[in-house]
Amino acid sequence: MIELREVTKIYKGQKVPAVDRLSLQIPEGETCVFVGPSGCGKSTTLRMINRMIEPTSGTILIDNKDIRESDPDRLRMGIGYVIQQIGLLPHRTVAENIAIVPRLYGWPKEKIRQRVDELLELIGLDPETTRDKYPSQLSGGQMQRVGVARAMAADPPIMLMDEPFGAVDPIARNYLQDEFLRLQREMKKTICFVTHDINEAIKMGDRIAIFNKGRLVQYGTPHEILTRP
Ligand code: ADP
Ligand code: ADP
Repeated sequence: MIELREVTKIYKGQKVPAVDRLSLQIPEGETCVFVGPSGCGKSTTLRMINRMIEPTSGTILIDNKDIRESDPDRLRMGIGYVIQQIGLLPHRTVAENIAIVPRLYGWPKEKIRQRVDELLELIGLDPETTRDKYPSQLSGGQMQRVGVARAMAADPPIMLMDEPFGAVDPIARNYLQDEFLRLQREMKKTICFVTHDINEAIKMGDRIAIFNKGRLVQYGTPHEILTRP
């Protein structure tokens, strides 16, 4: 479970908090979607969960443990992170990009090779023709899939996904959403998923957290959100 207690972030030189006394619990195995207009604090919240940035005040716990007590690198290795600008290493092949975290864990070569092929299958890319390609040889949707595979490589229990399908066209996005939903039914990861698209939020979320100006204004299941006045 991920728990945020009264978390506030005020960036240097800013008067207004980017995130303002945010309290939230995300149960294990659920997808919580953060939704709201641009600049309302969604990405900031996500980046505090993997300690890319530190809160100004408040506490974040993962499995009841304050994340400040974890080594930041170890913490990040256990959290898959997918962003819109997927940032694959351009001079590394698809397989090498996916293998980054397993290599950090020191997995043997053969285990990494098998895992890469398994992941490529899982995300709907043909291992034979894809593993040795370079990112520039892929379409936007394929890159996005490789980014998701990279984040899942070492099977982290938690995934943080910041507009993961934002950069692909609407048809490809719809496919990626459906495929990811199917995967998640088996994976049962704890996921924070950021979008500014309410339809995507309703489709992807077990729970939806609606942000406005750094504050949590609504939190509930899609059904609760849709039926509440
Ligand atoms: P969202 O993800 O909902 O678009 P962000 O978390 O990116 O929102 O941003 C929340 C607020 O914090 C915005 O006003 C944004 O301009 C500001 N902000 C984000 N990152 C920084 C930063 N590195 N330095 C200063 N202000 C920032
Ligand atoms: P997002 O897609 O999360 O809304 P933005 O486009 O707001 O991201 O921000 C992109 C980058 O710029 C992020 O690294 C963010 O931290 C930084 N940033 C955003 N707003 C500000 C700001 N007001 N001052 C400084 N950096 C900012």
